[in-house]
Amino acid sequence: MIAEMAPTVVLPGDEEAFERHGLNWPTALVLVVLHIGAIAALFMFNWRAVAVSAVLYWMTIGLGISLGYHRLHTHRSFSIPLWMEYMFGLFGAMTLEGGPMFWVATHRIHHQKSDQKGDPHSPRDGAFWAHMGWILFGEAKHDNTRLMGKYAPDLMRHRFYIWLNNWHWVPTVLLAVVLYLAGGLPMVLWGICVRIVVGLHATWLVNSATHMWGKRRFQTRDDSRNNWWVALMTFGEGWHNNHHAHPTSARHGLAWYEFDPSWLSLKVLKAAGIARNIRVAKLDSRLTERKAA
Ligand SMILES: [Zn+2]
Ligand SMILES: [Zn+2]
Repeated sequence: MIAEMAPTVVLPGDEEAFERHGLNWPTALVLVVLHIGAIAALFMFNWRAVAVSAVLYWMTIGLGISLGYHRLHTHRSFSIPLWMEYMFGLFGAMTLEGGPMFWVATHRIHHQKSDQKGDPHSPRDGAFWAHMGWILFGEAKHDNTRLMGKYAPDLMRHRFYIWLNNWHWVPTVLLAVVLYLAGGLPMVLWGICVRIVVGLHATWLVNSATHMWGKRRFQTRDDSRNNWWVALMTFGEGWHNNHHAHPTSARHGLAWYEFDPSWLSLKVLKAAGIARNIRVAKLDSRLTERKAA
């Protein structure tokens, strides 16, 4: 079923901008440890651990971030049963990209202020800032569920999401314990460190690279671009100019050659009668500067 495109969610003012301040030591420490673990994994190669890591990458970045946090929780571009929504939310938290309120709030602000003052991560403030500088040096808000909830009132109605936002790192720690018991250190290094580091950089590339490099099909008011190699790493999130032009469309790769695995997954869920109310943008829709503003 194809529904009408809905307007972007209306948000509070920009008084909560992500200002620069000193280094966030806890975040920096976790990132350093994860990167060291990812490098160490290369010296403990084993196919079983790599396979588990790949499956977890699909579950957490593909279902958790691309289909869950982004296309479902942020933009509500389709609907699925609540238990599956919660499951995608749980997978999303396992990327260590923060809980649902933090992710959704940050991303809704990004759409509202794209490449303008108040955008949490615009390359106009520097490529490094847009990639990971805003996480390392921006005001840390991932634990402030009440503030982030102002931008995600729809999620605040669910106790599960409030819990998940407060304790977003717990599922990852539990997963690490399970992986250790199942396959020892190599399983943890591949299933946690490599997977999370690759997932973080892939996601951050959507904020940095796809606002700098690639083709612009639509004249949106931001710098968003369609970037095929970021799309390959992120299950279709690299078709970012299409997405900024049509934020509520569940389909991001609009042309046949724009590979969008998340859209294909959604088509499977639709065929199985699980996904409904799917919003889809058409390729030939023309968006002018005036309409985009
Ligand atoms: Zn963007
Ligand atoms: Zn978006």
